[in-house]
Amino acid sequence: MSHVFHRHCHQALPTIASGQGVYLTDTQGKRYLDACGGAAVSCLGHNHPAVLEAIHRQLDSIPYAHTGFFTSESSEALANILADLAPPLINRAYLVSGGSEAMETALKLARQYWVEVGQPQRQHFIARRQSYHGNTLGALSVGGNAWRRAPFAPLLMDTSLIAPCYAYRDQGPDESAYQYGQRVANELETMLLEKGPETVIGFIAEPVVGATAGALTAETGYFTRIREICDQYNILLILDEVMCGTGRTGRFFAFEHEHIVPDIVAIAKGLAAGYQPIGATLVADPVYNAIAHGSGFFQHGHTFMAHPTTCAAALATLTTLEQEGLVDAAEKQGKALKTALHHQFDSSPFVGDIRGRGLFLALELVADKETKQPFSSTLPLAKQIKQTALENGLMCYPMGGTIDGKQGHHILLAPPYIIKAPHIDEIADKLRITLDTCLPH
Ligand code: PLP
Repeated sequence: MSHVFHRHCHQALPTIASGQGVYLTDTQGKRYLDACGGAAVSCLGHNHPAVLEAIHRQLDSIPYAHTGFFTSESSEALANILADLAPPLINRAYLVSGGSEAMETALKLARQYWVEVGQPQRQHFIARRQSYHGNTLGALSVGGNAWRRAPFAPLLMDTSLIAPCYAYRDQGPDESAYQYGQRVANELETMLLEKGPETVIGFIAEPVVGATAGALTAETGYFTRIREICDQYNILLILDEVMCGTGRTGRFFAFEHEHIVPDIVAIAKGLAAGYQPIGATLVADPVYNAIAHGSGFFQHGHTFMAHPTTCAAALATLTTLEQEGLVDAAEKQGKALKTALHHQFDSSPFVGDIRGRGLFLALELVADKETKQPFSSTLPLAKQIKQTALENGLMCYPMGGTIDGKQGHHILLAPPYIIKAPHIDEIADKLRITLDTCLPH
């Protein structure tokens, strides 16, 4: 009997033994191609010597010291690199232990900003349906996935949700992609006017929606309009790049594709490529300065924030991304993987949409390609696909509830940026075999 309280109480998991490059191996010697980076985490692949060495070096000097007493060379160097990578207006990094913490930090920071500037009446967040921002209560409150929220609903903050930008499902027959994007962006304005803009703290969105909607990119012009509305009504724009950031879309920040700059952005998963648990909330100068020149103290903090060893791992990850040209590789290999997926699945009657950007891609599965009717939500399709893929030596990230938290299925792919042509072929082939087994023929 295992004494670990696992994610699922009745699931027999293989035990991991080792990893090398894009492959993981379990204690039975079975090898898996990691086509999802776990959950879009392992951007460098497994066992990268540069990161291991940096962690060892940090452990040999000082593994941990509390941030209430000391700063550290690794956290200072990491924040410097992040400030260099970010647009000129973003110069501060609040370093935490993961994605949910980074989003909690973003929410509290945004609230404190308005308190500092004398607008304590601001208390509402606006976010989007079908988004995911983490599992802690604050982050879950601003998430838009009905299934994840439901059991905890009485405990959650009241958040106003607008539509996602989901052209495959929602674009009208009489509107262009651009018009559709503007229409759904304008839902933010409508919601702001309904709530009263002077009561709103900010708007929260994933530039590319990850786990809950499957690599959903916005239509051109959508985020420009969102930024415009945030500026017009003077609310903060908070972007969640926990999954889509740190190079995964082929730019270090996914918002670079949208030609906008947020006021606050959260990153995490790829930041230390899974070698250590770390997240960061990056903050634009006006927000930071309001606190620095106001109370001088962000009323927050965690025991393991800016942990020197996690920062050393993140520093080595970012240096490796740069030295090995891996953000550009994510763009190039992402195109190759998308082409391979089109080649393999365009003729499938059950793959309705192939989407995403860089090495952040997804297939949306449908029972009927013409009508886009999803498979029955009672089918344990995601579970079956995940299990069958594993048996075939492939890790992928299938999920149900793509459309509204209940209906719809997709498979997310987010392989390491070191992926090469033979791995791409292996992913497409193994996914094909998996879907042939799990879907009706
Ligand atoms: N935000 C997004 C967009 C995510 O995808 C996730 C995790 O999947 C989180 C936040 C939460 O991150 P974590 O699981 O590290 O707490």
